[in-house]
Amino acid sequence: MKIETIAIHAGNQANDSSGAVIQPITMATTFKRGEDGGYPGGYIYSRSSNPNRTALENVLAKLEGGSVAAAFSSGNAAGMSVFQTLKPGNHIIAPDDMYHGLRNQLKNLFADTLEFDFIDVNDQAVLESHIKPNTKLIWLETPSNPLLKVTDIKMVIGVARQHHIKVVCDNTFATPVCQQPLALGADLVMHSTTKYFGGHSDLMGGALIAAHDDEWWQKIKQVHEYGGAIPSPHDCYMLVRSIKTLPYRMKGHVDNAMKLADFLEKQPQVEAVMYPGLASHPQHQIAKEQMLSFGGMLSFAVKGGEDAARKVINSLKIFTQATSLGGVESLIEHRASVEGPDTKTPKNLLRVSVGLENIDDLIEDITLSFSHL
Ligand SMILES: *Cc1c(COP(=O)(O)O)cnc(C)c1O
Repeated sequence: MKIETIAIHAGNQANDSSGAVIQPITMATTFKRGEDGGYPGGYIYSRSSNPNRTALENVLAKLEGGSVAAAFSSGNAAGMSVFQTLKPGNHIIAPDDMYHGLRNQLKNLFADTLEFDFIDVNDQAVLESHIKPNTKLIWLETPSNPLLKVTDIKMVIGVARQHHIKVVCDNTFATPVCQQPLALGADLVMHSTTKYFGGHSDLMGGALIAAHDDEWWQKIKQVHEYGGAIPSPHDCYMLVRSIKTLPYRMKGHVDNAMKLADFLEKQPQVEAVMYPGLASHPQHQIAKEQMLSFGGMLSFAVKGGEDAARKVINSLKIFTQATSLGGVESLIEHRASVEGPDTKTPKNLLRVSVGLENIDDLIEDITLSFSHL
């Protein structure tokens, strides 16, 4: 089945005797046991599993072409569960442009137990020179947040395989509609489902999807189940509902982002545009090879420094100044000020989550804001 069909059907396990077309929300925390003490419905207690989470995990696994998935209460909870499977003293290689919440998790929560290096993972020589006997994990995020750097996933996997290192890809920016890391050889995909999967800026969630149900996955499942960072049945229902339109929403996001990137690149007020779909993007060739389409996120640097960037944001009418991404509404953000004091993000950089409004309205809004510069 193709992705549009999977998105609609794989998460909808309607088997209610009423004939309801949509799976009901099962709020029960606990499930009735049989006379023999068994569990005839297959469910025991909702932290371990719940019918709505099962349905969500099924559609997540199928969308990414994986064999198993686990749904979490947030993207950070999903990421943390991966780090918690490692042993004290294990070494992680992570990108220098890593989502700041996960970078800070490593730096603040795992500094005493894990070793890590934040490097340019797309530079093969740099990558190889950082591999140590205790390196167990390479973390990828491509396109990255907020610089939209693209990493050659196949190259990294080639290096990792030689050293028996696992590769995890944070696929939040791309979604499986635009990029399928498991098909390229990654061991695990991570998502903040708060973003495009949810798609309406009204729920938080995370996910891990694995190529194989192996020993490592069983360890991840233990962290999931014993740790208990799970989404509620209602959140699972909401996500399953949103995922049905994910492929079509992504087409709109990608289409609008490409047009906005083309427009911005031609404007004299703009110093640089970062979008993998532009021929000027430093890794455009890699993006063309490994992505199915270029995603809905872009960043641009405004001439005139932080003041000019803030002026642009403050005169926009349709774009909302807010963090996060992936919703139907366009968001814009001065990224350096949200990332904290250790940020390397340029002060004149604005990150845009291009929404599904009409592109002409978005371009007009930006044109007007530029006229204030
Ligand atoms: C938002 C985000 C996360 C964290 O997800 P939460 O749902 O906010 O916990 C991780 N990675 C990327 C790329 C993100 O954009």
